[in-house]
Parts: sequence; C-alpha cells; structure tokens
Amino acid sequence: MSEYKNLIKAAKEPLKRAYAPYSGFKVGAAVLTKTGRVFAGCNIENASYGLTVCAERAAVFNAVSAGHRNFTAIAVVTSGKSIAFPCGACLQVLSEFAPDIKIILASSAGRKVVTKRLKELLPTPFSL
Ligand SMILES: [Zn+2]
Repeated sequence: MSEYKNLIKAAKEPLKRAYAPYSGFKVGAAVLTKTGRVFAGCNIENASYGLTVCAERAAVFNAVSAGHRNFTAIAVVTSGKSIAFPCGACLQVLSEFAPDIKIILASSAGRKVVTKRLKELLPTPFSL
C-alpha cells in the first residue's frame, strides 16, 4: 500500500478546498498518469444539486485538460473516518480513459485503505 502513499497524500491536498456546503461530505482525488504526473481535484457542489461534480471527475478533467489521458491509478480520500466508493458516473468517466485503472480508497481520519480495479467496480461500462 505504501506504493500509493504519495498519491493518497496528493488526494488529501484538494480535500481542504472541497466545496460541499450542502452535504458537508468533502472528497479529494488524485489521478496518476503513466508518465508519473499527478493531477488532483475536489468535489464541487452546487445549489442546483445535479450540477455537482465529484472529486474523481474533477481530477480526471483537470488531467485531460492538461493533455494527459493515460492513467494508472486514482486515490480518493474522504473527510471523516469512512471510505467511499466512487459513484457510477465517475466509474464511467474513468473507464473512458483507463479501463484497468487501480482505485485506492482512503479517508482523512481512518486508517483503512482499500484498493480495487475499475473492472471490479464497473464490470460492464457503457461504450460505443
Ligand atoms: Zn462520482
């Protein structure tokens, strides 16, 4: 698990900037590119709830916007003690760029770290 210690650390950084006035549930994410770059993101809520963007997608969109599309791992860190699995929308977005990505789940207060493969969480993604 120490292999992803730095990625978890990178996901904790944007957690501080998460904008979650409605749920109070803050999330940070950091995606690792094949070339070793790290891009992070936080969840950004909106008064019109459906417009809310999760940290995982914010991190991926940040990376893609910077010209990176090949990812090997993503760390997702939640505030509090419990880990949270990515939602279906985020899993689908991850499948677009990295069908075999490793997903590392951690929390800011808890010690538990869970690692999954995208294919375990989304065995049948939508594709054209
Ligand atoms: Zn999501």
